[in-house]
Amino acid sequence: MSLAGKPALFDCVTIFPEMFAALTGAGIPRKALEEGRWCFRAWNPRDFSGFTARSVDDRPYGGGPGMVMRPGPLEAVIRAAQARQAEEGRPSRVICLSPQGALLTHQRVMELTRQAEAGTGFILLCGRYEGIDERLIARMVEEEISVGDFVLSGGELPAMTLMDAVIRQLPGVLGDAASASEDSFVAGLLDCPHYTRPEEYQGQRVPEVLLSGNHASIRRWRLKAALARTRERRPDLLRNRALSAEETQLLAEILREEAHGKEQCGEH
Ligand code: SAM
Repeated sequence: MSLAGKPALFDCVTIFPEMFAALTGAGIPRKALEEGRWCFRAWNPRDFSGFTARSVDDRPYGGGPGMVMRPGPLEAVIRAAQARQAEEGRPSRVICLSPQGALLTHQRVMELTRQAEAGTGFILLCGRYEGIDERLIARMVEEEISVGDFVLSGGELPAMTLMDAVIRQLPGVLGDAASASEDSFVAGLLDCPHYTRPEEYQGQRVPEVLLSGNHASIRRWRLKAALARTRERRPDLLRNRALSAEETQLLAEILREEAHGKEQCGEH
């Protein structure tokens, strides 16, 4: 049976399922959920605690501050989610959100989107406290993903970040598919600046070319602005990317204009 065409599936392991209302209840993800383009289920490890107090954490061996998530309830809940996905004929992929994982990038988002489209069900493990017993990660987790070099209180916001990034790439989710293809990182550049009405705001005018109706000039201006912005804010992106002939020419123009600007300011 072909799995392609099934909705993307996220089974989230979390002790705070209510947090996911931020994703399921607003904006583009909500609309896409209502249209059946993705599915969400929350799995609470407390339901697999084995203790009447439903606790899922314990003190760390070796001492120190905070608590650690116990491996037993997490393994039980992950196995339950895997069993449900297997009943549905889906391969599973267990991802743990962790500040120690590989940084989430546009490229990884696109790979995950392709897997979701092909029918893979994701099981997203959201840590809390000091983190998760390492043996559970070694036994059950296929990949650890971080959303940045900082530490949050739990894995729910990172899980929602990953889900939102994937959901908006699913076919049919964005009204105008072109809007995703022009976003930052898609073509290895930052997006160009955007403007809307009024034409003049607090003394600043919209660049004239954008009012010209000349589509070729507008496209060229946007590409040049994207290149200039990327060079200024994220030069690392340009170092890792081959430039087309047009981009090389535009970048040379940017450099000439910059040098000219410095000359006029008396800099050498
Ligand atoms: N002691 C851990 C460390 O320093 O690596 C941090 C634990 S953090 C307070 C609790 C949970 O939040 C983690 O297990 C993870 O699931 C999640 N988390 C925190 N920051 C994250 C990040 N930048 N990316 C992904 N998940 C994160």
